[in-house]
Amino acid sequence: MKAEPILVVRHVSKSFGNCQVLDDVSFSLSRGEMVGLIGASGSGKSTLIRTIAALTPIDREKDKGAPCSIHLFDQAIQKNGCVTRAAAGLRSRVGVVFQQFNLVPRLSLLMNVCLGLLGRMSVIPATFGYFTQDQKVSAMTALKRVGIAEHALKRGSQLSGGQQQRAAIARTLVQNAEIIIADEPIASLDPSSARRVMDILADLNKRDNITVLVSLHQVEYAMRYCPRTIALKGGKIIYDGPSSALTPEFLSALY
Ligand code: ADP
Ligand code: MG
Repeated sequence: MKAEPILVVRHVSKSFGNCQVLDDVSFSLSRGEMVGLIGASGSGKSTLIRTIAALTPIDREKDKGAPCSIHLFDQAIQKNGCVTRAAAGLRSRVGVVFQQFNLVPRLSLLMNVCLGLLGRMSVIPATFGYFTQDQKVSAMTALKRVGIAEHALKRGSQLSGGQQQRAAIARTLVQNAEIIIADEPIASLDPSSARRVMDILADLNKRDNITVLVSLHQVEYAMRYCPRTIALKGGKIIYDGPSSALTPEFLSALY
C-alpha cells in the first residue's frame, strides 16, 4: 500500500519582478518520507520552502496554463496566486526550521519552545505564567527529546548554534508537527553539531513518522540521511529520485 501524500506541489512558479525564481515546480511527498532538497545558492530552495510554509504567495497560473497549487494534508494552502484561508488552520501541523535559529534571544529555551504552542491556543498568554503546567511539561519533554533539557532555563543567546537549532526543532515537536520543513538547518553549524541535528531529524522521521523536507547546501548530508533527493537548478527540478543514484558528474554540473 502506498503511503498517503502529505504534500502536493503542482506547477508552482514564483517571480520577483522580472526574476523567475521557481519555474513550474511539481512534486509530492508521502507521509513518512525524508527528502533532501539540494541546489546551488540562488537555485530557489528557500523560496520553495517559504511557499510551502505559506510565507510567500505563489504566482498565478499563466493563461490556459496548468492549475498551480500547494496542498498539505489534502487541503489547499496556496491556489492560483493566493494563500488560502485554510492555511491558517494548517500552520500548526507544519514545523518550520530556518538556518538562523529564530529563537527569541532573551527568553529561556523553555519559553522559546512554549512559543511553538501559540498556533494551537485561542488566547495568547501575556506571560510565561499563563502556559499551563502540562504545556511546560510537554516543552520539557521536547527539549529532552533533542538532548538539551539541562539548558532549559538558559537564554537562547547563551547557547551554541547547534543547541539553538535543536531548540528550534523542539518547538516543532510541541506543535505536534506532522511535517518538518527545514531550510538549510545545518548551514551555520560545525560538522559535529550538523550531524547531531541531522541525527535528530532522522530519528523523528523514523520513530515518529514525521515527514521531513530539508534543504541542504552540502550534498553529502542528503546522500547520508535522505533516501530521496530533489535537486533544483535555476528554479527548476532537474532531479527527483533516490539519493543513492546521484552521480559525481551530476553533482558537479549542479553547482
Ligand atoms: P537558495 O535558497 O537556493 O539560495 P533563494 O530561494 O533564496 O535560493 O533565492 C533564489 C533567487 O531569488 C535569488 O536570486 C534571490 O536573490 C531571489 N530572491 C529571493 N527572495 C527574493 C525577494 N523577496 N525579492 C527578490 N528576489 C528574491
Ligand atoms: Mg536559501
